[in-house]
Amino acid sequence: MTTDVTIIGAGLGGLTLARVLHVHGIRATVYEAEASATARAQGGMLDIHEDNGQPALRAAGLMDEFRGLVLEGREATRVLASDGTVLFDDDSTRGRPEALRGELRRILLGSLPAGTVRWGHKVSGVRALGEGRHEVTFADGSTVVTGLLVGADGAWSRVRPLLSDAVPEYTGRSFVETYLLDGDTRHPAAAKAVGGGSMFALAPGKGIQAHRESGGTLHTYVALSESQDWFAAVDFTDAAAAAARIAQEFDGWAPELTALITDGETAPVLRTLSALPTGHRWDRVPGVTLLGDAAHLSAPNGEGANLAMLDGAELGRLIAAHPDDVEAALTAYEEAMFPRSAAAATDGARLHGLLFGQDAPHGLITMFTGHEQP
Ligand SMILES: Cc1cc2nc3c(=O)[nH]c(=O)nc-3n(C[C@H](O)[C@H](O)[C@H](O)COP(=O)(O)OP(=O)(O)OC[C@H]3O[C@@H](n4cnc5c(N)ncnc54)[C@H](O)[C@@H]3O)c2cc1C
Repeated sequence: MTTDVTIIGAGLGGLTLARVLHVHGIRATVYEAEASATARAQGGMLDIHEDNGQPALRAAGLMDEFRGLVLEGREATRVLASDGTVLFDDDSTRGRPEALRGELRRILLGSLPAGTVRWGHKVSGVRALGEGRHEVTFADGSTVVTGLLVGADGAWSRVRPLLSDAVPEYTGRSFVETYLLDGDTRHPAAAKAVGGGSMFALAPGKGIQAHRESGGTLHTYVALSESQDWFAAVDFTDAAAAAARIAQEFDGWAPELTALITDGETAPVLRTLSALPTGHRWDRVPGVTLLGDAAHLSAPNGEGANLAMLDGAELGRLIAAHPDDVEAALTAYEEAMFPRSAAAATDGARLHGLLFGQDAPHGLITMFTGHEQP
């Protein structure tokens, strides 16, 4: 390999690529905007799937480390009616072990040679130099030139414009994220409602989805199908007022469910959900490609991080398989990635229909009981 690989973004996708390249003896440098590995909390639990996340971790040689992170029992799933009645409760495992995203990122970072990730390098621009070479400019004005550039820089990728004019659009729905800490002791009714793993309390167009994390932390995404203007009118700088405003949309719901919104120990955080068009693709451009959310951002459906890791693992494998022909590697990678991510986005849209459609919460129960395929 004559060219080092330049990866923009140290999320799960970019780090999996760097790791798989390292396993194959290929050097990579990852440029990351954040100042350090601990600059930002990494979000909640991820279930790692048998058909994408797990093979990626296997290719990265990290399955043993991953098994050490799995939080037992967190695959339990329940669906509640708005009055708190348990409509569906299943504590079986479905081959989708759960781990904290931050812990997964930690094992990936720990598996790379020192200095692989250059923290505090926010990309401000990229330009083609011809013959597959690109110049990357950082916010401090410094530049690097590379013969193989990979945009793993998430939803608002700075690399994407080299390949495509597509821009993510608002999905019409957002999440508001809350945390209740030490739930069993401090919020026993809410902790009981959530149960041992995931809890979905759903109605058409909205829902309260919570997850039991480590140490009894109850992590909640409150889903509302409202416009961006509607959310802009909520004052998220006043935590109590914002929580009360969001909870107002669940007037009449069981108090142990609305407590997940109003009794949070951290300020509620708005997560605006945007997506690229389903089937987003581009014509081959020499020397550059995208992976993960940069390539196929979709509304959260439990697949995004898993797909990003599989993209990284597959791209790494193909670069190693074509040491003298980067274009053959990128072509093979994109030919498999485009249909894979389009299929996942289509399934994801159907899942959102089951979660928040007119039949909620019964559509999801039908899916869990096996009468509808996920
Ligand atoms: C609320 C919510 C819940 C979700 N739940 C799940 C789930 O349960 N399961 C699941 O599989 N997926 C889930 N997802 C989706 C998942 O988070 C993403 O699909 C996944 O993180 C994509 O990984 P990535 O590596 O492509 O991008 P990211 O994780 O977004 O990583 C991109 C990295 O690039 C860096 N970066 C960005 N811009 C620049 C720049 N200009 N210069 C340098 N660096 C830059 C960022 O700081 C970041 O570190 C969820 C998403 C949301 C919003």
